Amino acid sequence: MEIKNPLLTLNSKLPSILELSKAQLFENLQSLQQPRFRGEQVWRAIYKECQTSFHDMTNLSKELRSVLSQNYSIGSSSTVIAKKSLDGSTDKTLFRLSDGELIETVLMRYEADGHRRGRKTVCVSTQAGCALGCTFCATGQQGFRRNLTVGEITEQVLVMERLARTEDEKEVDIGQRSRGEIQGVTNVVFMGMGEPLANYDNMMEAIRVLNDQKGIGIGARHITISTVGLIPGIERLAEENIQINLAVSLHAPDNDTRSETMPVNKRYPIEDLLLACQKFVKKTKRRIFIEYVLLKGQNDTPKHAAKLGTILKDLLCHVNLIPVNPTGEGPYQRTSYKEAQRFQSDLKIFNVPSTVRMEKGIDIDAGCGQLRDRALALTDSLGTNLA
Ligand code: SAH
Ligand code: SF4
Repeated sequence: MEIKNPLLTLNSKLPSILELSKAQLFENLQSLQQPRFRGEQVWRAIYKECQTSFHDMTNLSKELRSVLSQNYSIGSSSTVIAKKSLDGSTDKTLFRLSDGELIETVLMRYEADGHRRGRKTVCVSTQAGCALGCTFCATGQQGFRRNLTVGEITEQVLVMERLARTEDEKEVDIGQRSRGEIQGVTNVVFMGMGEPLANYDNMMEAIRVLNDQKGIGIGARHITISTVGLIPGIERLAEENIQINLAVSLHAPDNDTRSETMPVNKRYPIEDLLLACQKFVKKTKRRIFIEYVLLKGQNDTPKHAAKLGTILKDLLCHVNLIPVNPTGEGPYQRTSYKEAQRFQSDLKIFNVPSTVRMEKGIDIDAGCGQLRDRALALTDSLGTNLA
């Protein structure tokens, strides 16, 4: 199902209030002679009640509402295309940013899906395009456009939160859940377009906003950052003192194989990357998720599995094996489910735990299937991690 809405491509030219940190928002309101609690009210209205218009913030004075609406917009992106998968489990949205750049966001629901039941995960983008050029990745082949701002990252979650809550509320109306069970988005994965650790400051600030209990309140343990393996970023993240999940896109067990598909490997080779992972685990006491996209004939042979088992056997990790989603960009074919299972049992010999994830008939786009597979694999593993 596809909805195109040309009207929604008209962006507001006012600055987005989502670009302000909480402290900045409070300061700005103070400069308008507003008491501190007004800041709390506006923050709550934006991030807890998810209001889309200042005029609806009826606990504010009429005057303040009109000052705010003359000076700010709530967000700066517009929806160009919204697609829903036939089974209703996945929504993918293409957003146009204020300068015309296009990014994707996905909402995945796990309605009747074992321990993931009731979970709603948003997969967000952190950059328009990506500079790292992995050969199997559609975004990587587009090249780098720019970093997303804090507001552009949080807005993706806010839009999906509104959608998720509306659905929850409908279920309340028909008696399928109680009002107390309205939860909206439960998990956020930084697995959309771009490399999160290459946009570190904005990503971290966005996480602080999403994590704030007076706002959307997504727990750190329900947030996952996926990285291509930028070591300085991993080291920095380890020092943050936040219980976030880290996923590392390894995709090969040796430098020769990895450098063929991931140019970044020349800068940060596997041995250094694994050392950074060890340090991360030591510092945070959290296991790492190793992402391994299976590329037929390229990295999925028994030899590769044995090498992978050898290099990972001493790391506290969980491997997600994902047969590649062909993008039309590269020559890669998917490893069959049977072969993926064989790879998994080879890893087991080394006591390296893993999960195989096959795409589940996503009809709304290859890119989306790719995101979904990744997040599915991850939330599955997290399910056992974070009961
Ligand atoms: N830049 C980060 C996060 C975004 S990509 C990273 O690389 O980790 C999110 C995940 O999708 C990564 O594990 C990436 O390797 C994977 N991916 C990219 N292209 C894919 C494809 N065609 N099929 C399956 N997974 C893919
Ligand atoms: Fe960039 Fe990640 Fe794609 Fe590699 S896989 S090109 S790092 S988005």
